[in-house]
Amino acid sequence: FSLFEEIPRAPPDKIFGLTEQFNKDENNKKVNLTVGVYKDNDGLVTTFPTVSKAQKMLEQDEKRNNDLSYLPIIGSPTYRRSVLDFLFRESCPSSGPKLLEENRISFVQTLSGTGALAVAADLLSLFISRTVWIPEPSWPNHINIFKRHGFTDIRTYPYYEDGKLCVDKWLEHLRKNVKKNDGIRHCIILHACCHNPTGLDPTREQWQKILETVNELKMLPIIDMAYQGLESGNPPEDAYVLRMCLDESRYKWSHGLFLCQSFAKNMGLYGERVGSLSVVVPPNQPETKTNIESQLKQIVRSIYSSPPGYGCRVASIVLSSPSLKKEWHKDVDFMVQRLLDVRHGMCERLGWSDLVNYTQQHGMFYYTRLNHHSLNRLRDEYSIYMTMDGRLSLSGINDHNIDYVCDAFKSISR
Ligand code: PLP
Repeated sequence: FSLFEEIPRAPPDKIFGLTEQFNKDENNKKVNLTVGVYKDNDGLVTTFPTVSKAQKMLEQDEKRNNDLSYLPIIGSPTYRRSVLDFLFRESCPSSGPKLLEENRISFVQTLSGTGALAVAADLLSLFISRTVWIPEPSWPNHINIFKRHGFTDIRTYPYYEDGKLCVDKWLEHLRKNVKKNDGIRHCIILHACCHNPTGLDPTREQWQKILETVNELKMLPIIDMAYQGLESGNPPEDAYVLRMCLDESRYKWSHGLFLCQSFAKNMGLYGERVGSLSVVVPPNQPETKTNIESQLKQIVRSIYSSPPGYGCRVASIVLSSPSLKKEWHKDVDFMVQRLLDVRHGMCERLGWSDLVNYTQQHGMFYYTRLNHHSLNRLRDEYSIYMTMDGRLSLSGINDHNIDYVCDAFKSISR
């Protein structure tokens, strides 16, 4: 008998588990449409041209390149400066600079967007709240992260119904279930853009209504911005939810907000784990920003001590050179145009515009609403792998396999 035998097997990860299965598949026509990693028209995960340039610049900067010592617990000061500028000056030019000047943003470099969410959940569950509202559907890891990081009350709000967003239902649900004075202890995850998995985001008018309700119920927003730039092709432009939130004259956030952000998708730095958590604190509380940052430091120290150094150096170079940054925007736009081309190419071949509101979807994914039976057939008969919520990662499709994939889709829907 061993105590270790009491540890049961965990289920495979909903997304990465499928990739493991895909790797074992021997069909040479197999297509992996599961993970949200951008691939080019030849099916390769390539480095963004701007990122390559930044890597070369880093290589030439021997002192920085060869510095393998620890970064500070809350991250590189250079990275911090460039990311805060990017998020709060460039992406939110009307309200962000004032927040920076008033010293109202606690910041920590994180292990990409997942790390930002996990650190945020740790801080919140230690001091503020153990209740979080997550859209249904959402990225499956949201529930996982909040459950593992101290949240005991995980609730969902309706987001999508019959191929469309259901904003009225969502807000009605919140009004019914969040009592005004409890709201301050209720966190709510808002996907900043390119909602995963549906690819459907509220319009600006709908966001206005959503934010008014969240504000009125005194809920604490956690903005998850993992796809900044993948909607419009222009990263600063896509921070519109953050901009709307920070416009305090309208929303008067009484208790601040959390922003979890990542350069995985918009710089292709997936495995380098480059992201950040910013906590915007209320006005006139001179101690709060420093107190929060001291707690973030403790949390990081107890889990991984300090973040890795390479990826954040690359990102800082891109963000701090005006000419590279311009080129980066072009890289992002190029990726977005290819994703759009694939989306349109599929819809033309499938004639599915009636079935899926595809023109309104954006980002990396195509949400097909195929059922489990169809998804199993695609996998078993055609070796086409998609996540079981019917989401497919568009960049896995290219000129070489688009006809194969669309023919398979047609044959299973007959
Ligand atoms: N949030 C959402 C909605 C996502 O889809 C993802 C990645 O797929 C993340 C956060 C975090 O990604 P990463 O940790 O790679 O930055």
